[in-house]
Amino acid sequence: MTVDHEHLVSMLTRLKLTAIRDNLDSFLDEAGRQDMTLREALAFLCEREVARKDERRVRMGMSIAKFPAVRTLEDFDFDAQPSVDPHQVRDLATSRWVAHGDNVLLLGPPGVGKTHLAIALGREVVHRGYSVLFTTATGLAADLAKAQAAGRLDDKITQYAKPRLLVIDELGYLPFEVESAHLFFQLVSRRYGRGSLLVTSNKAVGEWGTIFNDPVVATAILDRMLHHSHVITIKGESYRLREKRRSGLLQKAGPAPASPE
Ligand code: ADP
Ligand code: MG
Repeated sequence: MTVDHEHLVSMLTRLKLTAIRDNLDSFLDEAGRQDMTLREALAFLCEREVARKDERRVRMGMSIAKFPAVRTLEDFDFDAQPSVDPHQVRDLATSRWVAHGDNVLLLGPPGVGKTHLAIALGREVVHRGYSVLFTTATGLAADLAKAQAAGRLDDKITQYAKPRLLVIDELGYLPFEVESAHLFFQLVSRRYGRGSLLVTSNKAVGEWGTIFNDPVVATAILDRMLHHSHVITIKGESYRLREKRRSGLLQKAGPAPASPE
């Protein structure tokens, strides 16, 4: 039986099997060289197609998530941050907490790696096939306020309620206006029981009343966030300051530095 190449390519296009289509000759050569059975050849072709689709899905997921930078767990120096339990982070990296609809809170002073871990964990969640959106607390508050002013609050809250994981970075750096706190509460309520939150904050949970300018709203928000949550409290000094200090120490071993620390 002779197979018309064009016909084959057009069927592969129609079936959206683009990886097989684009590499047809080389894949068929490979299958021939390895003397594959038909079943093996089919599996080989499917695996290539699945790999291409996975790659595309992850790329799309990362771009939809709008992470502000690339930070990975491989790049995170656990030795530099002994207050972070590597087992707990690796367990969270499985993204089971997202499957269960749990929340993660990353607490600690500036520079200790909260945003780094938030992005790194968010990327793992994308790899597992869940939708993720990264935002900052101030960006989120401004966006909700703007939507409310334009009479489109409900649409906006629906939009933020959609991703399986919403990352809210830097909660507490700036206190919320009372109005913003209420909008934030509406969002947290809408997401409650439907999707996960990953929140980073430089404020301990006990200080959240001051973030929201209203202890009642703060309690209501906390109540929903802490239900089924994993809390990582990072202690210690800023990673960059520590690195600077270290390089300073290293320099001191050589010729005397010009200026004291
Ligand atoms: P935070 O959000 O807690 O203020 P960041 O996550 O922004 O801190 O960390 C500040 C910088 O230091 C970032 O560039 C981050 O990648 C880096 N950093 C922080 N902690 C670590 C760590 N343990 N290992 C590697 N890089 C780190
Ligand atoms: Mg940060």
